This record gives sequence, structure tokens and C-alpha cells, in this order.
Amino acid sequence: MTLHANLIDGEWLPGEAVPNINPSNTNDVVGDYARASADDAGRAIAAAKAAFPAWSRSGLLERQSVLRKASDEILARKEEFGRLLSREEGKTLPEGIGETVRAAQIFDFFAGEALRLTGETVPSVRPGIGVEMTREAVGVVGIITPWNFPIAIPAWKIAPALCYGNTVVFKPAELVSGCSWAIVDILHRAGLPQGVLNLVMGKGSVVGQAMLDSPDVDAITFTGSIDTGKRVAAASVEHMRKFQTEMGGKNPLVVLDDAELDTAVECAVNGAFFSTGQRCTASSRLVVTAGIHDRFVEALTGRLKNLVVDDALKQGTHIGPVVDQSQLDQDMEYIEIGRGEGARLVFGGERLNRETPGFYLQPALFTECTSAMRIAREEIFGPVASVIRVKDYDEALAVANDTRFGLSSGICTQSLKHATHFKRNAEAGMVMVNLPTAGVDFHVPFGGRKGSSYGPREQGRYAAEFYTTVKTAYTGM
Ligand code: NAD
Repeated sequence: MTLHANLIDGEWLPGEAVPNINPSNTNDVVGDYARASADDAGRAIAAAKAAFPAWSRSGLLERQSVLRKASDEILARKEEFGRLLSREEGKTLPEGIGETVRAAQIFDFFAGEALRLTGETVPSVRPGIGVEMTREAVGVVGIITPWNFPIAIPAWKIAPALCYGNTVVFKPAELVSGCSWAIVDILHRAGLPQGVLNLVMGKGSVVGQAMLDSPDVDAITFTGSIDTGKRVAAASVEHMRKFQTEMGGKNPLVVLDDAELDTAVECAVNGAFFSTGQRCTASSRLVVTAGIHDRFVEALTGRLKNLVVDDALKQGTHIGPVVDQSQLDQDMEYIEIGRGEGARLVFGGERLNRETPGFYLQPALFTECTSAMRIAREEIFGPVASVIRVKDYDEALAVANDTRFGLSSGICTQSLKHATHFKRNAEAGMVMVNLPTAGVDFHVPFGGRKGSSYGPREQGRYAAEFYTTVKTAYTGM
């Protein structure tokens, strides 16, 4: 099997081969990927540092052209990459293709942004002086990504980093090296100068840690768990570097008595269970008012019975496997915790056997949950949702906000008054009305509050806040 190598200073460098395993069929090896060492990470950082002065002053058309070519090639190969994504991560094929198209759209957006860099010129308060405010690249950006969006998250970090003139050391999650390698291959062939983009696949505790420990990494953008996010933050403060951490969620979907039942059920099914519930924006808490509670639970359970859990690549599969054994163990453990806490498991929660050996789990729905239970407080990151019954809108809002997280918050209602109040008072970075908590646009800011995010928002034009630094220049005339 071909070894997919790391890219360091423009050279593809082999390393210890790590097989990339298909979670729908553990007998299927997606490919072999080279594991970088801490020394490799050091070389990649040095290469990015050396490449920064020229790239940060490169022509805008050069940056635009590379990003545009990447967008075009990803889009042209969307079926192939969608398949690769589903095979390595376990999202269904339509979800995999959808995420691939999104990655292409992100590169297209930032290809355009490269031509729209602006600054401001203002008069000084002191006569005879001019003031200019411009944005400049930050330097070497370390990019550390999780496994659950193998192509979209790398795209939404790499594209703005390059667009604004930074150089990059990119460490993807080990479980999903395939899509990351493919993006880097495309950008390399699209004409990036050597050292501008470096790929170091490997362990977080080795390669990621080497990036955190290096004084030559000027900024780190991280998406992943809270525990790792805290390490990123602590190490970054130590080095006085810029950092951004996008972390977990425990997102509520509020369903009020006046909600359209079908809409509410579809929002819950999509938000809580699609992509196997492995989304930071997943609706893992369904906060339902008493008047609709029983009808909602009955309709949702009926809908869950008809969902097909099977091989991610099979036509007709609604929910693919869990990503790996350790995530499956975590999901099963939380299902036991929920039972032990007195919640009622009204559907699912069983391991499933399919034609091929994989990590299949029947989506699990708990009712009679309280906001104090661990299953309603801790991020499970699987197809497990808890229904919390509340008496009215005020209690629903209080329960929705009763969490240390604050990524996405949703409400299903036909009341303009409650929808408006919720948009204003939900303690979250993103609010959805009559829509699933997951599923966002690529051209507007993404991110959360409280324990979910730290630092400037990602995506859209707001990305410039992280990937550039502002300079104020005064000129005496
Ligand atoms: P993780 O924290 O285990 O790993 C994330 C990345 O950090 C991986 O590349 C990993 O190798 C690396 N890493 C691990 N230890 C490290 C260390 N010591 N130093 C540097 N890097 C290290 O997270 P995961 O399991 O891959 O992803 C799931 C988590 O990601 C969930 O908590 C989910 O909510 C979160 N997530 C958040 C968002 C968001 O935008 N808020 C989006 C997707 C996923």
C-alpha cells in the first residue's frame, strides 16, 4: 500500500506507517499514513518560519490563484473525497460529499477575500499627521484539528491562514489523515512555495505538543476537546502567542407547546443524531414544554425506529458508525450512567451488528432527565440525546442556558415573541429558530461562548481577526 507522507519544506517525507481504518468495516484499511516525530514538527516549524517573509509579501493574485485552484479541484473530485471522508470517519456518503462541497466553498470564499484586503486612513487628532490602519499576517500559524469534520475544519483554518499571508504547520487528527493529506497535496500542486504549508500527521501528545512548546509558532488555532484546548491555552500564554480554541458543546434544542410537531421532530433527529451525533453543534439536550412533551417523544421515537444505522457508504444509510472503539466505549458508558442516574431509556442504546465489523450503535433517547444529570451536562459526542421536561418558556430558557458550554442553541416555536426573546437571551455563539442546532453557513462567523470557545470567531470575514494583526502607522507631513 502506498505510504502517504508528511510534507515538510516542500518535500514529501516518509515516517512510521499508520493504517487508517474504516469504522464501518475494521477489515478495510483506507490507507497508510506517515507518523511524524517531534523532530519532524521542529523542521516543519523552521521551514514555515523561513518561508514567512516572502509569503507574507507575496502578490495577492498568487494567493488567490492557489486558493481558487484548491476550490476547483476539491469540487471536481467531490465524489471521491466524499467517499474517502465517509470511509475514514463514518459519516454517510451524502454527508461526506456535502462536507467536501463546503470545503471547496470555503477555499472559494477566501480566494475572493485575498483580493479584498483593506485598511483605513484617518486624520490624526494632531494637525499635520496622517494615520493608517492596516492588517498584517501574524506569522507561523499552527493548525490542530479534530476528527469529526475531516475536510471542512482543515479548510476553514488553512484557507484564511494562507489568504492573509501566514505560513502553516498543520497537524490533523490521527484518525482522519486521508482528507487532510488530500487537501495538502492539492495546495502543494496548486503552486504554494516550499515551506508555506507543512503537514505533520501524528500523535497529539508528540507532534501537537511539539507545536505548543515551540517559541517559533506565532499563533495556534485549535478545534477539539476542552482538555486539549486548555493545554493549548496554557502553552500559548506561556509563549505569549495568539490562540483560538473551539471546543465542546452541550447544545439545547427547546421545543415549545406551539411548535410545529413535524418541524421540531426533524430538527431533533437531524441535530441530535445525524453525523452519528458527533458534531460539536449536536442537540444533545431536548428541552421540551409539558404541553407537547408526550406527543414530541412519541413522534421522535417513531421516527428513530425508521432510521437505518449501517455502513456509511451504503445507499439508504441514515446514520453511520461511531468513529472508533474508544468513542463507542464512551457512548456506552454514558448510556449506563444515564440509566444509573434514573433517566428512562425510551429508545436505542444497543450495539448493533451489521454485515461488516464496525462500531454501530442504535441512537439512544433518554426521557425524564434533569439538568443536573451528567448525561445532560457532559459532552458525550455520540448519538445520545436527553429530553428534559419543563413547564414553560421561562424555565426552558433557564435550562437551555444551564450549562458551561455555549456553542449553538435552538428553539422550535411559532411565537415571534419567544423566538425574538430567545435569540437575544440564549447564551450561545449561534442561535437557530425552527432549524437544527447543527448546520451552518460558510460565509458568516462560527463559534461559541463560555466553555465552548476562546478567542475570535472562525470563518467568513471575521476570520481576519485571528489570522491578522493590526498595525497603526503615523506619518508626519
Ligand atoms: P482532541 O482534543 O482529542 O483532539 C483534537 C486535536 O488535538 C487532535 O489533532 C489531537 O491529536 C490534538 N492533540 C491531542 N493532544 C494534544 C496535545 N497534548 N498537544 C497538542 N495537540 C494535541 O479532540 P477530538 O476527540 O479529536 O475531537 C472531538 C472534540 O472536538 C469534541 O469535544 C468536539 O466538541 C470538539 N469539536 C469542536 C468544534 C467547535 O468548533 N467548537 C468542532 C468540532 C469538534
